[in-house]
Amino acid sequence: MQRSRAQTRFKISTKSRLSVRDITSQVHAAVPENMTGMATVFVEHTTAAVTVNECEKRLQSDFETALDGVINNTGWQHDELDGNADSHIRAMLIGASETIPIDSGELATGTWQSVLLIECDGPRTRTVSVTITPVANDQSSSMTWAQHLNTS
Ligand code: ZN
Repeated sequence: MQRSRAQTRFKISTKSRLSVRDITSQVHAAVPENMTGMATVFVEHTTAAVTVNECEKRLQSDFETALDGVINNTGWQHDELDGNADSHIRAMLIGASETIPIDSGELATGTWQSVLLIECDGPRTRTVSVTITPVANDQSSSMTWAQHLNTS
């Protein structure tokens, strides 16, 4: 879903209450060619989160187990409303966004780093935005941001 050239949104469906999903390819797809700057990845929800870490199957499972164990599932005041205080608390501890450096149209992440959506109250369909901020006076890029907006 395209909102503007500087901001892209995509949806991702999750299959269980607590889960980790790799969204690196969707974030990369939102980065303009040759652009150098920053990408802010933001999840538009109060019971899901975004982080950067290794996308390894056993680690994903371990993180889900840790998240489940670190917060009690019952006894919260918000549960009087909709029974998911633990989901909100898990999401707040992780955070709703990450900022990722971009170098010449590529995510400048480390070898083992992936962008991960953390579902804390699934299964649901989540909306993630990627907002692109170019570096001012970017002389390494073949195209200025203004030129990019005019030509793409
Ligand atoms: Zn709630």
